Amino acid sequence: MAPRPRPILKKTPNPWPGIKNRIRGYKEQMVAFQRDLTAIPALGPQNGGKGEYAKALYLEKQLKALSPQTILNLGCPDPRVPQGIRSNLLALFEGQNSSRTIWILSHMDIVPIGDRRLWKTDPYKMKRKGDFLYGRGVEDDQHGIVSSYFAVKALKEEGVRPAHPVGLLWVSDEETGSHKGLEYFLRKKRNLFKVEDLIIVPDAGNQEGTMIEVAEKSLLWMKFTLSGRQCHGSRPDLGINTLRGTAHFITALEKLPRIFKKKNPHFDLPISTFEPTQKEANVPNVNTIPGQDIFYLDCRVMPEYPLSKVIDAIKSIAAEVEKKTGLVIKIEVVNTVQAPPATKADDPVVLALQKAVQAVHHKKAFPLGIGGGTVAAFFREVGLPAAVWCSSSGTAHQPNEFCRLSHLIKDAQVFAHIFCQS
Ligand SMILES: [Zn+2]
Repeated sequence: MAPRPRPILKKTPNPWPGIKNRIRGYKEQMVAFQRDLTAIPALGPQNGGKGEYAKALYLEKQLKALSPQTILNLGCPDPRVPQGIRSNLLALFEGQNSSRTIWILSHMDIVPIGDRRLWKTDPYKMKRKGDFLYGRGVEDDQHGIVSSYFAVKALKEEGVRPAHPVGLLWVSDEETGSHKGLEYFLRKKRNLFKVEDLIIVPDAGNQEGTMIEVAEKSLLWMKFTLSGRQCHGSRPDLGINTLRGTAHFITALEKLPRIFKKKNPHFDLPISTFEPTQKEANVPNVNTIPGQDIFYLDCRVMPEYPLSKVIDAIKSIAAEVEKKTGLVIKIEVVNTVQAPPATKADDPVVLALQKAVQAVHHKKAFPLGIGGGTVAAFFREVGLPAAVWCSSSGTAHQPNEFCRLSHLIKDAQVFAHIFCQS
């Protein structure tokens, strides 16, 4: 028998096939993780909840099992929740070269279930049907938590050290302004982040996993309190009906898209939007004409428009309605985020995502702007380029929200690819 030739050069084996396979094997663990997370609703106090404390405790335990180099639970004081703090979790894992850190940022809080009757299953008991996992929060944003967690776990269990340090950052308060979440974290820990870092926010995307969000519209939430005069349902002549006034006002606000009409094809949708959304309860009975009505407007505006201009336009429309109806309209700004400069289409974080998506999905990913504000804006605000990416079915905030198991696996593989190669 001929002797086996001895290799001349010892080549480091490519860890990627092993990691990819290992992630595929996490299917059942991912389902269990999603089930546990869904059972701990993390609603902010503005949404009638107790905050993220319990969910963060559970997650901290899970992170510790991956033995990170550093783990930090940075609580932002908030007297509105029972424990008095909103948790922000950070786990840092060592890399081969610390010239940059790869960050994956997800949020722990969820939005309310909305109308329970529209749900086919209990929103807080995750239900699996084949590839689909149903429950409030499974997509937004447990998807990001679970996929990034298992990407790190795969490297650990394969004995592969990431090319650069990896930071998993799981924040609070994303759904209600991020003031107790990323905004607070960046204020306290800005020095952890470098311009060279790759920052990925898995909180929006498309089915194919080919959309990389690099720009956002500005966000403006307005609250309107219409005051008229309450009276008996049979004597409208004695009152001023605020529900009718609300209808007039909402119709008048339809002017806004015509005033702010610039289109940008790099955005999905390519226009600014101005939607009346929440309406507070007025009178509890049919035979009283309401004397007060409160509703809200959710505006997503192209970044080139200063929000002050939009507020001015709304005020002048309100003044016209006041004149026409005799109502008094109180206008409050509930939330504003003026969109920061976009992340460049050839930024290293975009290129790393494109390379990883090509390796996992065999498709080309493209940069795009979106209307839904994500926390990426807070990074961009302080000069840190960030990209929002994940594979998403777009069911966030909807009844019967779902997340696909196949998406979780592919996304974990994309993250693992970036950890190994970027
Ligand atoms: Zn989200």
